[in-house]
Amino acid sequence: MSALSVEEFERRLEQYGIERSEEARAVRVGEKETSEQAAIVARYADLFTREQLDVLRAAEPDAAGAERESVARLRLACQDGVVTKELAEREDALENALLAARVPWDGGELPLRSAQARLATEPDYRRRDTLGATVLEVSAALNDERRSLLAARHELESAVTGIDDPVARNEAEKDVLLRPIADAVDTARVESTKAFTPSRERWLDRLLGPERDDTPTSAHMAWIRRMSPLEATYTKERSVPVCLATLRGMGFDLESESGIRTDLEDRPQKAPRACVIATDPPRLVHLITRAMGGLHDYEAFLHEAGHALHYAGCDPALPLAFRRLSRDHALTEIYSFLLDSISEEPDWHAEHFGLDEAVARENAEAAAFSSAILFRRYSAKLGFELAFWGRFPADGGTPDGYEERLTAATGVRYPAENYLGDMDAGFYSADYLRAWIRSAQLRAHLRREVGRDWWRRPGTGELLRGLFREGTRPTSEEIAARIGFDPLDTTALVDELTAA
Ligand SMILES: [Zn+2]
Repeated sequence: MSALSVEEFERRLEQYGIERSEEARAVRVGEKETSEQAAIVARYADLFTREQLDVLRAAEPDAAGAERESVARLRLACQDGVVTKELAEREDALENALLAARVPWDGGELPLRSAQARLATEPDYRRRDTLGATVLEVSAALNDERRSLLAARHELESAVTGIDDPVARNEAEKDVLLRPIADAVDTARVESTKAFTPSRERWLDRLLGPERDDTPTSAHMAWIRRMSPLEATYTKERSVPVCLATLRGMGFDLESESGIRTDLEDRPQKAPRACVIATDPPRLVHLITRAMGGLHDYEAFLHEAGHALHYAGCDPALPLAFRRLSRDHALTEIYSFLLDSISEEPDWHAEHFGLDEAVARENAEAAAFSSAILFRRYSAKLGFELAFWGRFPADGGTPDGYEERLTAATGVRYPAENYLGDMDAGFYSADYLRAWIRSAQLRAHLRREVGRDWWRRPGTGELLRGLFREGTRPTSEEIAARIGFDPLDTTALVDELTAA
């Protein structure tokens, strides 16, 4: 079989992406009980051959500027497909094992995902501890298969790219260096520790109650992030209308965005984490959330709305590479981080929940604490992942340092057995951290250009729409340059983390 031309490859890859996204969506929202990605990959097997990869590689040096980047992204998609084709059945099997896994609880059993969701709403501290330990035990039973899949992917990626070092390989794909990012966020974390420590003690006391352990386990993180004791104010029912009104303040009418489909229903097999699946941007973008009550619903909705508006706001005339493909997720996370940070604005709490100034400030502080502990967790996670992958070719993957690093950074104990369940593919942690730095820079820029209450001004929407038009094309670092910052300048971030 002969390989396709660059244009033919692009058209067929688009179809492949649409089918893969719709399958992932169906499983994610609980419409389907089993994942059948492997069947789709098999149907498009002709896209993912060494021969096809050679055609795309050969076309790259002849192209210039945007065209060259477009061909490079097609080549990366082909590379990824060559690897995925070999692993799709095993990856489906792991996904299906996770769907089938049951957690014994209260004399009955819960699907693993429901049990994970339950951790956010179980009000009793000791019961959360027990449930968290049981969830971890069930999840960790799949660690051997997780590790073996990582090893298989590493072997295949080394062969396809010719780069044996997993860190260097990912840097080549993202086109950015990872260790300077880790250094910058480590420094920012250390600089803000003095402000974080008293805030952690205060909020852990308040959220977990007097019986809490000095260093509670990560079983409580979903409860902490949900700000469950504030649930009476931040109800499940109001989350959608309040978030829609918030977006309207910036000039975004989510309901009239023709490309965005929302799925806000509750189903037992629906994954608890909110997400956006950009099936065919800007024409079809799914926004999926599972409200459970609590402030986190509002943050999750605004976060995903940032992704959805970004994808649905791109110029439809852009090529596939700049509508749907990207080297990583660092760009789109800037917009989701920006929007979910609105929960750190005291006036937003006062305006939408009728709170007096002191309570509004207190609750905004809770949101800032939740964001700070997450930043610290991710900064430590990137350090762990760099070490994990740095030694992976020699030791095949060990939990060394996971528990120590994450626990020291957060003051919450992250058990070593979760080191694989907690690992997102392709150094996603670095993408989040770039977005943490960048969204703080962007907020500083918006405060200057639009006003201190940028989050309720149409000027913010106008500025964002201009960026959204460009789709996935710019890098996170290019956005820094446009708003006048060095990419690794963490001054704005540290200022926010240390604000009294
Ligand atoms: Zn996101």
